[in-house]
Amino acid sequence: MRAVAFQDILEKVKGACMAANFELGEDVIAAFQKAKEQEESPVGREILEQLLENAKIARKDKIALCQDTGFAVCFVDLGDEVRVEGGHLVDAINEGVKQGYRDGYLRKSICHPFTRKNTDTNTPAILHINLVPGDGLKIVVAPKGGGSENMSRVTMLKPSDGIEGIKQFVIQRVKESGANPCPPLVIGVGIGGTFEKAALIAKESLLRPLGSKNPDPALATLEDELLEKINELGIGPQGLGGTTTALAVHVAMHPCHIASLPLAVNINCHSSRHKEIVL
Ligand code: SF4
Repeated sequence: MRAVAFQDILEKVKGACMAANFELGEDVIAAFQKAKEQEESPVGREILEQLLENAKIARKDKIALCQDTGFAVCFVDLGDEVRVEGGHLVDAINEGVKQGYRDGYLRKSICHPFTRKNTDTNTPAILHINLVPGDGLKIVVAPKGGGSENMSRVTMLKPSDGIEGIKQFVIQRVKESGANPCPPLVIGVGIGGTFEKAALIAKESLLRPLGSKNPDPALATLEDELLEKINELGIGPQGLGGTTTALAVHVAMHPCHIASLPLAVNINCHSSRHKEIVL
């Protein structure tokens, strides 16, 4: 068994919370750049230019890309030969989130659903822990904005709705969302599994680098078609019209029950953030 210190996990998660909020990924920046070259609306091009400038300032001055610094969603791959020394893994991650949001002057957005009383620490983090073989420990910290999360949906289609039903639902969801999720968007689509599995794989698919091709050719074709149709909606950057409503559509699939066709659409905003750490 390999021992990983509680404090090391805490420090790395703390740093990742700040880095994810300050440093937009190179893949997202490249997607902004490409979109700016292709965008037909002058206002849309100006907004994309401002997003590029915003990313530059955030990285240089170490300030948040957006005032909504999000829910701290963490995807953890925990090796079955790893032992956390000095405390519990979940506590180390939550303490890292708490300190990262405090020291990075990141807005604390987590509250009681009824009283709306803020927890003041941006915790608890949302943890997805996956047990994997080996002695590695990987954590991806993915701050998720409330505006884009609010526009996301899970539905249980009928098997007979098929692929056409899936396309219709995804496109309709983006259309109805309009400017609310802060376009240009990244759309995660989860097909199959159960109610919760569809939502999980949709969210996980947001982590895939923008511009990467889906390894399944049928899903790659579906992604291209959905992206084209979504960009034909004309919502545009920040909802002010244009040909760039989404930067990418990522589809993930899982086998499902013979009676079901679960579908999840997890919408991410232009502040499409995540940082990976390996311990
Ligand atoms: S949806 Fe995204 S860009 Fe819009 S306010 Fe929330 S974090 Fe910021």
